[in-house]
Amino acid sequence: MAHRTVPFLDLSREYRLLGPDLLRGIEAVLEQQRFILGEEVTALELQAAARCGVAHAAGCASGTDALWLSLAAAGIGPGDAVLTTPFSFFASVSAILRAGASPVLADIHPESFNLSSQAVRECLNGSAPPAAKAGESAANSAAIRAVLPVHLFGQTADWDGFEALQREYVRPPLRSGPEPLVLIEDAAQAFGAAWDSRPAGSLGQAAAFSFYPTKNLSAAGDAGLVTTDDEAIAERVRLLRQHGMRRRYHHEIVGWNSRLDTLQAAVLLVKLRFIDEWNASRRSLATRYCSLFEQAGLADRGPYPERGVVLPTTHPKATHVFHQFVIRVRRRDELKAFLDQRGIGSEIYYPVPLHLQPAFAFLGYSAGAFPEAERAAREVLALPIYPQLTPDEQELVVTGICDFLS
Ligand SMILES: *Cc1c(COP(=O)(O)O)cnc(C)c1O
Repeated sequence: MAHRTVPFLDLSREYRLLGPDLLRGIEAVLEQQRFILGEEVTALELQAAARCGVAHAAGCASGTDALWLSLAAAGIGPGDAVLTTPFSFFASVSAILRAGASPVLADIHPESFNLSSQAVRECLNGSAPPAAKAGESAANSAAIRAVLPVHLFGQTADWDGFEALQREYVRPPLRSGPEPLVLIEDAAQAFGAAWDSRPAGSLGQAAAFSFYPTKNLSAAGDAGLVTTDDEAIAERVRLLRQHGMRRRYHHEIVGWNSRLDTLQAAVLLVKLRFIDEWNASRRSLATRYCSLFEQAGLADRGPYPERGVVLPTTHPKATHVFHQFVIRVRRRDELKAFLDQRGIGSEIYYPVPLHLQPAFAFLGYSAGAFPEAERAAREVLALPIYPQLTPDEQELVVTGICDFLS
């Protein structure tokens, strides 16, 4: 009997469902020839803003650019430091540098894998443990003006904790006077997620979404979006994404070219109709994974793995969209190799924490600076989860892990 394989992600299944709708949307753009900021871009911005519960949304070229645009439009730049997590995709930190600011890192919470508001508090109070203080040199004693939590794997970060910090902590009055801490969401993995029923994208002063093809809401290429309730921020994003011009060839500020393609907006408009249904499917797949592992007697009571696997947990206030279903397990690399051999896809998000990336060596952090992020990087494994994953494929995944562990 030939082994059945389980692809980690199979986007062709989605295409089989949506093909005719997508082609109609793309054809309409080709016929209209409005490739740059056409009407589909505006329609997507309006619908995305409504879905995220904010007044404004502005499309851009990628999630990475959405992060940079959010920071720059919120007035974060040289002389400012931005606190974020070492356990994320590279862009969470590189976008801070691109904005001219200095990244400062704080450790994660071992259950959610999200930036710990407690660790951020210690950083703001200057009472972080000595190892974590290494980054202060990198920040050149710049004042921490913003916090950039990431809603990792589709679960919103502890927003109560960050808003409490925002109320308590006011950055030193370097400019015109005391300014409150700015909160920017990296919502690249969290379209449709929520905290306390407030949608991701409406929690911070601005939020950055990515529609990279593997994200839970995805384009047919690169695309991104900034959401905000702040009209001035929205206005600046629109200026910055198009060379600082409102009127053609009249440049008010130095921006860049980071527009959302009309073709990508047409694709996203089709998919946006399904996002709630898809996120609900992801949640029920997650629930089913959990019960399969429980039934197999493999569920460890976390936060750290022992004999079995630690299953993902959802904070009572978080609406998780399971962009990824991430377990923790010992001998993770051996398990991944075992699953690979059976044709069962899995991925490691992320194998190297950002403070240990060669590109960020100049930030001055060393191994041991963020023990939770470093341990997570050794233990996490993402399993296949997408709306078209079948029940028997899920069973193959769990059986494969059972066979390895027993
Ligand atoms: C994907 C991702 C980004 C970057 O998005 P791109 O569209 O690939 O530029 C940023 N942050 C996180 C957490 C991501 O997952």
